[in-house]
Amino acid sequence: MAVFCDKYEEKVRTYINVIDEMRSMGIDKEFSLPTIAVIGDQSSGKSSVLEMLSDVGLPRGTGVVTRCPLELKLKKIEENKPWKAQISYRDYSRTLNHASQVEDEILKAQDILTESISISSELISLQVESSNTPDLTLIDLPGITRVAIGNQPQDIGKLTKGLIRSYIQRKETIILVVIPCTMDIATTEALKMAHEFDPDGERTLGVLTKPDLIDKGTEESILNIIENKVVPLKKGYILVKCRGQNELNANTTMSAALEEEITFLKNSSHFRPLLEKGVASFEHLSEKLTNELIQQIANWLPIMEEALREKVVEIQNKLDELGTNIPGDAQARKLFLNCKILTYCEELTSLVMGDYKKDYDNEKKICDYSRRVFSGWYNKLEIEKVRLNDEAMSKVRFHDKYSQGRELPGFTKYRVFESVIREQIQKLLPPSLQLMKELADKVQQVFNAMGFEHFQNFPNLILATKIAIDRLVQMVPMVTRYHLLQEFANQVKLEMAQTFLNESGADGLLDEHADIKRKRERLTDSLNQLNKARSLLMAKEISRVQ
Ligand code: GDP
Ligand code: MG
Repeated sequence: MAVFCDKYEEKVRTYINVIDEMRSMGIDKEFSLPTIAVIGDQSSGKSSVLEMLSDVGLPRGTGVVTRCPLELKLKKIEENKPWKAQISYRDYSRTLNHASQVEDEILKAQDILTESISISSELISLQVESSNTPDLTLIDLPGITRVAIGNQPQDIGKLTKGLIRSYIQRKETIILVVIPCTMDIATTEALKMAHEFDPDGERTLGVLTKPDLIDKGTEESILNIIENKVVPLKKGYILVKCRGQNELNANTTMSAALEEEITFLKNSSHFRPLLEKGVASFEHLSEKLTNELIQQIANWLPIMEEALREKVVEIQNKLDELGTNIPGDAQARKLFLNCKILTYCEELTSLVMGDYKKDYDNEKKICDYSRRVFSGWYNKLEIEKVRLNDEAMSKVRFHDKYSQGRELPGFTKYRVFESVIREQIQKLLPPSLQLMKELADKVQQVFNAMGFEHFQNFPNLILATKIAIDRLVQMVPMVTRYHLLQEFANQVKLEMAQTFLNESGADGLLDEHADIKRKRERLTDSLNQLNKARSLLMAKEISRVQ
């Protein structure tokens, strides 16, 4: 039996640790983690329930005492180990060695977090290690107020509800609704809110407090609630008795209060059967809560694994878009720059050669563009050729007729022939220069656009590339004459290698836009964190607890 208990406790601890670790990694900012949220109307007994569960005195009083969500991480330790707690919020963290320090520390934390506001959503985390506590993590939320009292702001009710809603609307949250037996269950705001977000009562557990304060003869109505006859909840209700005002005045310890609870239940003919059925007492409540929480975690783990995997892929894609991380040391940076420029130049070559390795916009396909331009040009030349023939023939005939010299019949003077051709070529010169200019413009435009794509995070590199292209593009008409568009790409490659790699200022070319760098760092951080969370899930190899 002891072995079974140990194994069970170990498993429970493992499950709860996974969630605690995920929360400390900040995973809860991206994903909702399974948790138990404690909600209730003001003075319903929330703090009393929590302190009975946690073995720690929490702040109490009238009005809104809880002003921030309080995460209570309870860890059961061996009997002979000392009680210990740790409070943390924002950058603050402090170890407490005595339970009496807790209340002041929480009040101090709340004052800091709600400095100029009435309610804050910032979390205070309190980890308690005690031999008198179950393994459980719960979140205590501010009580629901109906009307603002004293110097509370008018919208306090709205603020509180908003905060509570943010927790209970998540499907992963188990809603623990604290309802005093002294109140008409139908009028409790907390139960109404729980019903709003969990209409079938799938993840809501009711806790009935103050059974010792009800009027004699009204016990039946409480039994009806517990038998799920009034507001049915799939997880049902549990009746507990906390420390009342008398016990507080008498400074009754938590363990004495727990004993008193059992005595009270046993002495009541109405409530004794509830104890026997396991639907009354703190002992049953903490057992039930632990079971519910680990079941919730077990159901959630596979979903989480999948969600983490998807998120990792998403972030990886974003990182890929941002480009590779730039190395730190000078030699590696040079190599990196070299590599970047080479990739760029290779792409230029493939664009001018028509050896497209990607699905490019037609705009960028220089090879196709030049083929189109040149075939237009050749058509034009064909027409010109016919005209040239006609004109030349008539000129020659004219010459033959009127200025025939000593040439043999059928032979035209070379001088005449030359002047005819020269005239024709003169006519073709302006359109051919125009054609070259258009081609050069196109090359300039595409090479610059590609430069922008390749080096978009490096403004200096873009500028340097642009200057090189603007200068070299004047060579296009010349190299075109030799069908050497690709030579131009090679020339750019050479030029860039020479200009950039041998320059002492080459390092500055890798200066990134600052926000890109920050964005990459942020994404890399969250990627590392998600991967950590994933490996955590995998390493635990947790099987379902049935
Ligand atoms: P909260 O505002 O919901 O946190 O309520 P508290 O836990 O501060 O409880 C309000 C008052 O009800 C306190 O004076 C408690 O001592 C008292 N109280 C809570 N539970 C019980 C109970 O089961 N029996 C008795 N007699 N008093 C209780
Ligand atoms: Mg309270």
